[in-house]
Amino acid sequence: MNEEILQKIKEDLLKRKAQVEAEEGGIGKADAHEHAERASFPEYGDESDENAQEVSQYTTDLEAERVLKGTLKDINGALKAIEKGTYGICKYCGKEIDAKRLLVRPFSSACVACKTKLQAGA
Ligand SMILES: [Zn+2]
Repeated sequence: MNEEILQKIKEDLLKRKAQVEAEEGGIGKADAHEHAERASFPEYGDESDENAQEVSQYTTDLEAERVLKGTLKDINGALKAIEKGTYGICKYCGKEIDAKRLLVRPFSSACVACKTKLQAGA
């Protein structure tokens, strides 16, 4: 793998990581803010609507957090692979993944050929 490309991908990954971590921290904060607002307007909304809203907000937060955690894991995995020098190697066939693909999807762990095969269910 080209050193320059690898460096570029690493920077991209670190940037994404910072973004994800900021977003993850933001989920809890937004929630606390909302509760504070509700507390100062106790008459806001119909009770059943309010509950439904609360449940859906909770589910969205959980889902968002789950996605962020998964992304963070992918990013950390890719960063670790860069350190170990195993980055960009397809986990199925052991061949190098196309650098162009990695620039678009920096935490791809399978090459296009394997991914296509997997998606086809073969
Ligand atoms: Zn492969």
